Amino acid sequence: MVTLTAIVSPIGRQLHRHLVKQARAQRWVPVRRCNLTACSSKYVLSQVHPMWQEPLAVPGGDRQSPIDIVVRKSVFDPRLKPLTPQYDPRTCQQIWNNGYSFLVEYDDTTDKSTLKGGPLEDQFRLCQFHFHWGENNSWGSEHTVDRRLYPAELHLVHWNSDKYSLFEEAVMEENGLAVIGVFLKIGKRHEGLQKLVDALPAIRHKGSAVEFTKFDPACLLPKNIDDYWTYAGSLTTPPLTEAVTWIVMKQHIEVSHDQLAVFRSLLFTSAEEEVQKSMVNNFRVQQPLKGRTVRSSFTPFLKEVPTPSDSPNTAV
Ligand SMILES: [Zn+2]
Repeated sequence: MVTLTAIVSPIGRQLHRHLVKQARAQRWVPVRRCNLTACSSKYVLSQVHPMWQEPLAVPGGDRQSPIDIVVRKSVFDPRLKPLTPQYDPRTCQQIWNNGYSFLVEYDDTTDKSTLKGGPLEDQFRLCQFHFHWGENNSWGSEHTVDRRLYPAELHLVHWNSDKYSLFEEAVMEENGLAVIGVFLKIGKRHEGLQKLVDALPAIRHKGSAVEFTKFDPACLLPKNIDDYWTYAGSLTTPPLTEAVTWIVMKQHIEVSHDQLAVFRSLLFTSAEEEVQKSMVNNFRVQQPLKGRTVRSSFTPFLKEVPTPSDSPNTAV
């Protein structure tokens, strides 16, 4: 298959570099308007993040994310293997507020923290993880399952180190990224998450970063990582490139209300700005499926309940 980098002219290369720079600057600063019925349009208009106010450089294609996962329509694929994440906590480097979410970044210059297996044929390197969340516990996740909303969603971002040499290269390519999505639900306090929560007051404002080390992201995965949905999608922040193999965990993790409240104490704004804005509702609006298949690694055990019209026993 012809890749973008293989066909770009010098001008194309310049554009490519520009897009990559833009992608870096805006990395994970998604543009998301709340599409929930619970949000009034007035609220949406007043809260839309600046990132989503400008026309998008790359308009949506046919495999945009996030989506609603309709369980009945997902297709069990017995060829899907178990996922094998192997993370080295020593590759954890820093945590920073990029003005849209907070990112925990990993050294991705070597294959020390990797993801293999599942739907993936290549080896992918972990580069960062971040979250999306709502202003309250009724919404906040980017993906939904049968329209069910979760208060937050974790994204662990990996890039294909078998095929590419840099994240910035992989982000433009079809098979460049693999992102694990994990839903957060309100319940018990999450001990692993607390180390992150404790670091957040130091990066309250946009642009602030502090050293953050020895954090094992595997502690944020649910106990059962063998059950997941997977589909071909995109980044949910500009440049919205359709580079992502999504792996969305069926099992959620629990965090306490107080832990999520600290997420909401972060700010979209820098210290110099006059009007400070809470970092909430940092998710993208859901996107049409456009004929894509969502595969599942598990059998949903769906039992069709016959309706009166198609059941001979009740058609009396
Ligand atoms: Zn994300």
